[in-house]
Amino acid sequence: MSVAYDPQNIFAKILRGEIPCHKVFEDDVALAFMDIMPRADGHTLVIPKTPARGLLDMPADALGPFMLRVQKVAAAVKAATQAEGLTIQQFNESAGGQVVFHLHVHILPRWDGVALRPHTGQMADGEVLKAYAAKIAAALSETTSR
Ligand code: 5GP
Repeated sequence: MSVAYDPQNIFAKILRGEIPCHKVFEDDVALAFMDIMPRADGHTLVIPKTPARGLLDMPADALGPFMLRVQKVAAAVKAATQAEGLTIQQFNESAGGQVVFHLHVHILPRWDGVALRPHTGQMADGEVLKAYAAKIAAALSETTSR
């Protein structure tokens, strides 16, 4: 049996502006912002405005437009961080590693020989996240103005 979407989850609060975030991108479909406990420099999250708990309850007609935003933000993250590659992750339910129950896609910049940092529960410096968000937002406006 599927579990209902809880509108009190932390990402729903970020979407409503009740909790701040270091925003990278926003339109009518998606919001992208810096992960507060980054597992790599430039670790960015993309979430849909559609209230879905995970991939499986995301309405089919909203999925395509959302994934286009993921692709667009991923390209900007790679350009802004000069990453050699990207790891894209998406978890479903506790057993699948999900902690926040609003659909989200992790964009993790990668470099050869550099491992992802472990989950430490340690929050990153706000100024560092702010600087990454500005850099990625600038890369996004460059790719969209071309
Ligand atoms: P997941 O549910 O995919 O396991 O991970 C949730 C992610 O959200 C984690 O990487 C965690 O660091 C991030 N996160 C949790 N709470 C917040 C928050 O309040 N703000 C931001 N920006 N990220 C958060």
